[in-house]
Amino acid sequence: MFRKILIANRGEIACRVIRTARRLGVATVAVYSDADAGARHVAMADEAVHIGAAPVRESYLLPERIIAAAKLTGAEAIHPGYGFLSENAGFARACAGAGLTFIGPPPAAIEAMGLKGAAKALMEKAKVPVVPGYHGDDQTPDLLAKEAARIGYPVLIKAVAGGGGKGMRRVDTEKEFAAALSGAQREAANAFGDDKVLLEKYLVKPRHIEIQVFADTHGNAVHLFERDCSVQRRHQKVLEEAPAPGMPEDMRRAMGEAAVAAAKAIGYAGAGTVEFIADVSEGLRPDRFYFMEMNTRLQVEHPVTEMITGQDLVEWQLLVAAGGHLPLVQDDLVIDGHAVEARVYAEDPVKNFLPSVGTLVRLRAPAEDAHVRVDTGVREGDAVSPHYDPMIAKLIVWDHDRAAALRRLRQALAQYQIAGVTTNTAFLMALAGHPAFGAADLDTGFIERFRADLIPQPEPASAQTLALAVLAVVSGYRATAAAQAARSGERWSPWAAVNGWRMNDTGADEIHFRDRDTDVTCRVEYLDGGALRIFGLEHAVVAEGELAADGTLDAVLDGRRVRAGIVRQGEELVVLLPGHTHKLTVVDPRQAGEGEEGGSGQLNAPMPGKIVQVLVEEGAAVEKGQPLMVLEAMKMEHTIAAPAAGKVAKIGFRAGDQVPEGATLLSLEGEE
Ligand code: ADP
Ligand code: ADP
Ligand code: MG
Repeated sequence: MFRKILIANRGEIACRVIRTARRLGVATVAVYSDADAGARHVAMADEAVHIGAAPVRESYLLPERIIAAAKLTGAEAIHPGYGFLSENAGFARACAGAGLTFIGPPPAAIEAMGLKGAAKALMEKAKVPVVPGYHGDDQTPDLLAKEAARIGYPVLIKAVAGGGGKGMRRVDTEKEFAAALSGAQREAANAFGDDKVLLEKYLVKPRHIEIQVFADTHGNAVHLFERDCSVQRRHQKVLEEAPAPGMPEDMRRAMGEAAVAAAKAIGYAGAGTVEFIADVSEGLRPDRFYFMEMNTRLQVEHPVTEMITGQDLVEWQLLVAAGGHLPLVQDDLVIDGHAVEARVYAEDPVKNFLPSVGTLVRLRAPAEDAHVRVDTGVREGDAVSPHYDPMIAKLIVWDHDRAAALRRLRQALAQYQIAGVTTNTAFLMALAGHPAFGAADLDTGFIERFRADLIPQPEPASAQTLALAVLAVVSGYRATAAAQAARSGERWSPWAAVNGWRMNDTGADEIHFRDRDTDVTCRVEYLDGGALRIFGLEHAVVAEGELAADGTLDAVLDGRRVRAGIVRQGEELVVLLPGHTHKLTVVDPRQAGEGEEGGSGQLNAPMPGKIVQVLVEEGAAVEKGQPLMVLEAMKMEHTIAAPAAGKVAKIGFRAGDQVPEGATLLSLEGEE
């Protein structure tokens, strides 16, 4: 086994590889770009080497930098993860040239599968069924049109150098062919520098079923069964599961054997995935699956295979790369139970899955146990940057059967609390709970077909959400008042009062929210003992609860316990409930009309944290932009600066104090 390996990747997959290496006593080296200096994979690894700027072309895609980092640290082998350089034969060769082991297949095997057309020709020779079509060298438009007619419409045009769904066009009639062809060629030339295409019969009701294969350098090869990845959007996987629901045993055997034959035909070693497309217009049949392509690397969705086989595929990769034998033979491998993976993305399903960048102000994941696994590369406070894939985590669940696994999935998804970026968790919950998905009525058109059921529709805030928001706002006021009283030593000052945070004749307050385009006003009555009675909802609610410094709100609403997460950033307040996130704007009437020019108003804690420094005193005159306080939160220091010139009226906290989100740190008075 290796003493030390370098991981030429970032994010969850780098963390995933480090986890296994550590368990095996193998030291790890991370590489990182400018954007990733504080990233989780860097913190996890034993050593880390900076390799360049944030854009991948200036860091993670630079073979020379990565190889130099391995040499510098004395790593013996390089694990490429997935994406990036993982299917780059030139990189694999360069590693060997530098005396480093590439933890992946031989470069020739990567090349054999690199172009879809050549790979299909190879597979035909190895008697692996391929999608009926044309993948010849002759690319004259007339010949391609003739071939399309022979195959029969609809046909699919694919770029031979393609990936990620680019350069693909479905053509339904002969009339549209010429235009679609030039479109696909143009896109392929732009994306891959190669305008060659192939033609395939377009399957109208297909399922994406792939086989995990593994080979060693001693001539052994096995498969670790199938994964169903039919739930896709824009030809990208969203949910993956193993085994494939409803898979007949004879079809499983046929697909497994075909995949092993494919691997053997190219002298494969290490982990690989043979992707097949199954025509399910007449159900799953052993004579209706076809080779699509082979991914010569560890796949994003490999954890579902690990969960049903009890194997660690990264451990297998390291063993094989170190020259060892496969740990098991085919007959030792059995399927146990059912596993499902959901890809949690920072993206907005409502905006056609547009990636959402920002800071993960709050990130609470479900607890891991024997049933739930979370593979992630980010922590609370990290940024989802525009430079990289916006995946936040892979949530993997396991149970004895599919129905139980889907229950686990929904339960685990409901525990996610993410604020700062928009995520697809509500969409994933709708998917996991959809009756057609439960019935395994699958094909690659699933998401499009049920779009209306799956894309979450924005709804007005519920009474529960509003009551929690009111509690959170009042908690912020109270924390400020209590700190102020403690500071001034006036225990009985009105600032310390628990009945209403400020003195007024009614003992009541109004709190105003903006909920998308609607104004909502809640009137709050302060009851003895700290509870609130809130009016302005469907019915009056008695609410009790304190907002903890970590943003957790344990509340009792009309006698019912509710736990929510609260994120307050300036005027924005996010209420996180199981499976549901709602954003509100807090309209503070004491700030309304005063505005920034006047220099009056309150400065609230943008996030929970600790005051590390107070830079001014009460009564001090301050200039616009002058630093007033330093708050430490999420391992970073945030300077609270004066939005305008003015005078410091009150300081709510002192150095060392913990403050909840939204607490009033200090208030300013405008200059006369
Ligand atoms: P990529 O390299 O972009 O992953 P693939 O060839 O693996 O391209 O195809 C990606 C997806 O496109 C598949 O998972 C499937 O959903 C769809 N697809 C591919 N080939 C066909 C086909 N012949 N008929 C219908 N859908 C197809
Ligand atoms: P699979 O076929 O295994 O599902 P995909 O093609 O969906 O794989 O994912 C591979 C893609 O993931 C790469 O093309 C790249 O854009 C992206 N990627 C690469 N490295 C990482 C990483 N460390 N974390 C998240 N995404 C990554
Ligand atoms: Mg593919």
